[in-house]
Amino acid sequence: MFVDKVKIFVKAGNGGNGAVAFHREKYVAAGGPDGGDGGHGGSIIVRVDDNMSTLMDFRYKRKYQAPAGQDGEGGRRAGKRGENLVIKVPRGTVIRDAETGAVIQDMSDLNEYVLCRGGRGGWGNKHFATPTRQVPRFAKAGLPGEEHEVVLELKLLADVGLVGFPNVGKSTLLSVTSNAHPKIANYHFTTLYPNLGVIWVDEGVSFVMADIPGIIEGAAEGAGLGHDFLRHIDRCRLIVHIVDVSGSEGRDPVEDFEKINRELAEYSPELAARPMIVAANKLDLLPPDSDNLERLRAHVEAQGLELYEISAATTQGTKQLMRTVAGKLRDLPPVTVYEADYVKPLAEAGEAEDLNVQHYGDTWVISGQWLAQLINDINFADYESRMYFDRQLRKSGLFERLEEMGIQDGDTVSIYDFEFDYER
Ligand code: GDP
Ligand code: MG
Repeated sequence: MFVDKVKIFVKAGNGGNGAVAFHREKYVAAGGPDGGDGGHGGSIIVRVDDNMSTLMDFRYKRKYQAPAGQDGEGGRRAGKRGENLVIKVPRGTVIRDAETGAVIQDMSDLNEYVLCRGGRGGWGNKHFATPTRQVPRFAKAGLPGEEHEVVLELKLLADVGLVGFPNVGKSTLLSVTSNAHPKIANYHFTTLYPNLGVIWVDEGVSFVMADIPGIIEGAAEGAGLGHDFLRHIDRCRLIVHIVDVSGSEGRDPVEDFEKINRELAEYSPELAARPMIVAANKLDLLPPDSDNLERLRAHVEAQGLELYEISAATTQGTKQLMRTVAGKLRDLPPVTVYEADYVKPLAEAGEAEDLNVQHYGDTWVISGQWLAQLINDINFADYESRMYFDRQLRKSGLFERLEEMGIQDGDTVSIYDFEFDYER
């Protein structure tokens, strides 16, 4: 079973809670606050593993959760941080937002990607002692870890994609020109996995070629096997279209050629417009009286394409073909890397009534689920972001509620690890 598209749910660990504690020592009367901070929650990290070639591992495990940070303790002891959870994927995995399909990250190199940040640990009460507030009886809850439902989609990183009817010799060509060992057999659909092979043309000149399962009629509408696999040649820089000119299966090579091109165009006009060269294969089987080769050549060249004659089985013409391919690749743009276009929607305020307000002297400690989400999305170093936070708090009716409860100008509003002076 080849798995190349999965939906998974990932959640980073929550931050641990800060502790409320006071220093106690024999004969020392009033110790200061010494509650430690909660540990940060573990993040979800995605990393390429070049030993993986499918997304099979995700078939049965769909939920990934990094551990939470531990709560802080007295004696200024911080909670242990939750360990990061590393998710390994094959190279070429594109991470998308499940809801919108927007690209979050294209895992095409070895850089790690932080998919969900762990929640920050809450501050212990040792942070909240001030000259006027010597006995802070509060600490902060940890912030929630980010969570996300994403789709992982494998799109192989190959320079060249081989297309053609089943049985025309795609796998054979890959096997005789590269280090790959694809399955070869004389029946349709032998290739159920895309195969990647590296072709070494000359010293320092190599490229990657992918052999995908045969495209058949109706594949673009989802019939048969081809459809699912077309995505693996989405990134290709060059298409090598293989046609069996021998007529060994009783089909007409010109019709084959057109059918496959129609499938490509239906799947993706962009892919159909990709540079293409044509290889007429099974020349060794071509009956001497057949005009198949000439007809295909005339047809192909009329479209401005080049045709090469090969016999994959006898390797006649295959080296030359690979050299030509390498030469063409030199002038083509590099393999597509998908630009991230996902924009995380900012959390919005809920109702002030849903918040938990505690009042300690001149300090108002506020917490609650939507507020924790909101604070997670705010970058306090950024003016715009702070203004957004301010607008959201106003919208929620929090300040009216605090007024009713008796807040005074100059009192402190304390929200997780953020504090400000209240001003009407
Ligand atoms: P694919 O489905 O396009 O990958 O086709 P395969 O590479 O699996 O080949 C299908 C059958 O055609 C196998 O039996 C191959 O041995 C045979 N074949 C492939 N290329 C040639 C060729 O150039 N000449 C001959 N005689 N047979 C070939
Ligand atoms: Mg094959």
